[in-house]
Amino acid sequence: MCFLCIYNLVFDKLPRNLYQGFLGQSVIPSFLGQSVRAPIGNPTNPYSKAILVLQFFGWLLISDKIQSRVNLQKRKVLEEATCELCQHQPETSLHLLFWCPAAANFWRRLGFLVPSDFDVGELHHLSRLPHIPDLHFETFVLLCCWQLWKRRNGVVFRGEEATVIQLLQNCKAEARLWACRLPRADAALGDVWCSIFHQAM
Ligand SMILES: [Zn+2]
Repeated sequence: MCFLCIYNLVFDKLPRNLYQGFLGQSVIPSFLGQSVRAPIGNPTNPYSKAILVLQFFGWLLISDKIQSRVNLQKRKVLEEATCELCQHQPETSLHLLFWCPAAANFWRRLGFLVPSDFDVGELHHLSRLPHIPDLHFETFVLLCCWQLWKRRNGVVFRGEEATVIQLLQNCKAEARLWACRLPRADAALGDVWCSIFHQAM
């Protein structure tokens, strides 16, 4: 079952106040909750849903509960867990988002040196680079992971052939949208993020 199916199953069937509490700023770890404004009120609004999906994704990610093939194998949904992108390694969350060749290339282009002992549960401790603002850095990292995850789903489920350049272009476009959800005083950060993605192309 895909991530969005699970999201819809979980959240479309819960009372609004219940899942807003579950995903509110006090519950989501600082990784995301302190950076992006809390979900806006109306869950039937597609944009509200998008924010909720992102917050849920952030929580799944640092809990290592995203629907990677290894996690699905653990739950006996799949028999085989090899990454469908590179066909070389088991698809753990860490492999998918950091060590699969395209992902590694993506982070390298941005200038990140990901430690070999890095763990996805420590995502909020990923070392910041001098050219990336400290302000809302966790949100920047989440944006990258979200786009890597979307690229994976596009390749696996829709047969897309997204290059790393296209991935960076998507990140840039997404940065403009996400900047709208930052506190108003910080919205200019979107331009900085766009510039960072552009220079990495
Ligand atoms: Zn791979």
